[in-house]
Amino acid sequence: MKRRLKKIFLTIVFILSIMMFALAIFVSNIIDLNGDKVVYLALDNEYHEKGFNIKYLNDDSFDVKITGDVDNTKVGEYKIKYETDVFGIKIKNYRTVEVVDEEAPTIELENGSDIKICAKDKYVEDGYKASDNYDGDLTDKVKVTEKDDVVIYKVSDSSGNSVEVRRYLDRNDTEKPELVLKGNSTYNIVVGAKFNDPGYDVKDNCSQDVDVKVEGIVDTSKTGSYELKYTAVDESGNATEVKRHVRVYEKEKYINNTGIIYLTFDDGPTSYSTPKILDILKKKNIKATFFVINHESSTNYLIKREYDEGHTVGLHSYTHNYKEIYSSKANFYNDMKKISDKVEGITGKKSLIIRFPGGSSNTISRKYQKGIMTELTSEVKSLGYRYYDWNVDSNDAGGAKNSDDVYRNVINGLKPNRSNIVLMHDFAKNDKTIGALEAIIDYGLANGYRFDKIDITTSMINHKVNN
Ligand code: ZN
Repeated sequence: MKRRLKKIFLTIVFILSIMMFALAIFVSNIIDLNGDKVVYLALDNEYHEKGFNIKYLNDDSFDVKITGDVDNTKVGEYKIKYETDVFGIKIKNYRTVEVVDEEAPTIELENGSDIKICAKDKYVEDGYKASDNYDGDLTDKVKVTEKDDVVIYKVSDSSGNSVEVRRYLDRNDTEKPELVLKGNSTYNIVVGAKFNDPGYDVKDNCSQDVDVKVEGIVDTSKTGSYELKYTAVDESGNATEVKRHVRVYEKEKYINNTGIIYLTFDDGPTSYSTPKILDILKKKNIKATFFVINHESSTNYLIKREYDEGHTVGLHSYTHNYKEIYSSKANFYNDMKKISDKVEGITGKKSLIIRFPGGSSNTISRKYQKGIMTELTSEVKSLGYRYYDWNVDSNDAGGAKNSDDVYRNVINGLKPNRSNIVLMHDFAKNDKTIGALEAIIDYGLANGYRFDKIDITTSMINHKVNN
């Protein structure tokens, strides 16, 4: 009997257990979540609740409370709880939202990823910065390794996102040695005098010892032009070459020279040529005269610089267009007024020094109005202007092919014991004149000339009008 009771009891317990289990499954499924039970949400993205369905029953008759917050600025696991009451039984379901950081840190290399380095040098770190959207500054966590001239930088953020950047070391030295002559690049000495090479300074980015070879001789017993060539070669074979010119001349010819050289530069200012010419004049402490025309206003500062550095700013023309300026006197004066106003606006001083485009002897004006130069040359003087032509032509706007030509044309045109007005140009890219200028000045000084700028007290040197 007892045994039978026990059997019945166990059977009931068994059946009840199965019922409870079935009920539990049934109940837990009542709140059915839309979407996934585990949602991955990237940092800073907004969490959108997808909602739920009530199974087996009529949705509207149940109040479902949803609780739980998702902080999308913090990596972590967040639980959303869905809760309701079915006939006095609490029913719950959960959703997990995982806020994840998927963005890798970044590493920034100072001075870039390609570094030039000398063949034997140990690489000295140029510096780097690592930062992460979530962890902030990770610079201290960067692992740096160097192998075969590649430097590798690695770092991971707290979520395991990692980044690797590389720096490449280029040990191929292509930089030339720096070779600077001591003393002047040009010497003018008298026959029989002694010449001592003042030597040079040499430096290189990689090589400690740089060989410098000096070729050429200076024979001071004979007049002539001598060239010394200095060649510096570093360990990688990069070579720099500089030259020095020594001119040996007969001084007797120029004893008691009272000659004056007026260097004049037409058609500027231009951004390439004018600063170089001004630099040379400054270095040599020589004053000169610039006959300017109108250029883009970005070069106005050069007119200012000419004036501020003590040179004369003369008027050449606004347009330099022969047809326009020589077709009538009214056009000429109109053009002159424009360049005069421009110069006065920049320097604050009215200029009364002019040079006719093409010179007063030009023959082109007769094509536009015959006889105009005869009238202009006498009229401008009565208006208070002084006009200057030239008696030494560098030919830098004509036949001179290179700096040597320019040098020779000027030197051959100079005459002692008179005023020498030298025509040159500071128009665009005039390397011929830039390259000859220092030697011309050296020659003039060595031969007893004085350099000066034109001002209104300077005697006019005028061509014969030819129209
Ligand atoms: Zn000109």
